[in-house]
Amino acid sequence: MPEFKTSPGTRDILAPHSARWRAFQQVFASTVEAAGYNYIIPPMFEDLDVFLRLGEATEVVTKEMYDFHDKGGRHVALRPEQTASVCRAFVEHRPTTPWKVWYAGPNFRYEKPQQGRYRQFDQVGVEALGADDPLLDAEVIALASKFYTDLGLQKVHLSLNTLGDAGDREKYSQRLLEYFSSNEKDLTADSRATLARNPLRVLDSKREPDQQVIAGAPAIRDSISATASEHFEAVLMALDALNITYEINNRLVRGLDYYRRTTFEFTSTALESAHTAIGGGGRYDGLVEALGGPATPGIGFALGLDRTLLACDAEKVFDAPETAVDVFVVDTVDGRHAHELCHLLRKNEIRADRAYDLRSMKAQMKSADRSGARIALIIGSEEVENATIMLRPMGSGEQYSISRKDLLGEVRKALDKK
Ligand code: AMP
Repeated sequence: MPEFKTSPGTRDILAPHSARWRAFQQVFASTVEAAGYNYIIPPMFEDLDVFLRLGEATEVVTKEMYDFHDKGGRHVALRPEQTASVCRAFVEHRPTTPWKVWYAGPNFRYEKPQQGRYRQFDQVGVEALGADDPLLDAEVIALASKFYTDLGLQKVHLSLNTLGDAGDREKYSQRLLEYFSSNEKDLTADSRATLARNPLRVLDSKREPDQQVIAGAPAIRDSISATASEHFEAVLMALDALNITYEINNRLVRGLDYYRRTTFEFTSTALESAHTAIGGGGRYDGLVEALGGPATPGIGFALGLDRTLLACDAEKVFDAPETAVDVFVVDTVDGRHAHELCHLLRKNEIRADRAYDLRSMKAQMKSADRSGARIALIIGSEEVENATIMLRPMGSGEQYSISRKDLLGEVRKALDKK
């Protein structure tokens, strides 16, 4: 038999981590729903063309796409991110604006798997379409920031930049092309290849030799229009008003090609690996139009769940929540008493579990211990005869007999006690 294992870059998320994942999404949902964002569930695959609109110089699209022809001959792709799908949904359904939505779920990128970088990875995020207001940029950034705080994270660093408007970006791109071309011999081979595709992305390189060249590169803020510049100043003022600390990083361009104006990234200073980016986002004012919709401004962010949880580990916050049952029923008679009692307890919102296959008292008590239940209910032949149940608060070394008819009241009393 072959040995079956998860495919590279994918993982099984088992308990207790799976409960932590769910709690992460719940905290996110309550943070953003409290700010008027509604849940959207886009499909996990779309026509490839939807994602091609993310830009042909975007690595996620050129190198990392999970695309295939389905049995009907359609060229589809697993989503590498969710902004394109949200914009496609906006064009398809034409909701009233501003349209504020949030999402959670897996994305797929054919990357080189390593710690903090997976081929299937989860993100949570928001998108707000139809408003150009710089106060919205600040709201979106503040929400991400609040979410990190809600998780308990303190070592989160916010970097901000503006990419100007579409024309500005091209002008800047041209200036960078000239600058990097004249310094090409000092760039790494990877960056020389990137330069040919998209000079902006060279700024993303973390490689040491490139860093020195990048340090002398022109800054985008000298190339942007007055309106884009005013927009950025207004965003900064709005963040100051909320006491949100940030650093302006003129070199921040971020991976996806469609960003315009405000762009931002959150990194964890608690993480030591190469992958300290735990989330990011920005404006993408041209994307809806590129997908066939009316000119519509948009802004959003996506936060990496996997990596943010690594940051939580590093800061020792946001532990997996308790998922243990309240009660464990031990039945040494025939198992049917446990069967019926569990049903009754669950019907009354008391979380209950039991052992199966009529195992010995000792084995069942071991299972009770392992289950994390706070009390065990024990039924032997004597209890059946007397219509009683033995109630044992776990770890107390005590136990006492209760009448079967008083079960719910006694269990509730015992659970409240602790
Ligand atoms: P992006 O969609 O590329 O802007 O990424 C937003 C966030 O998603 C990043 O800051 C990471 O935290 C996370 N992320 C992106 N790609 C991966 C990946 N391959 N594995 C794990 N997390 C990722």
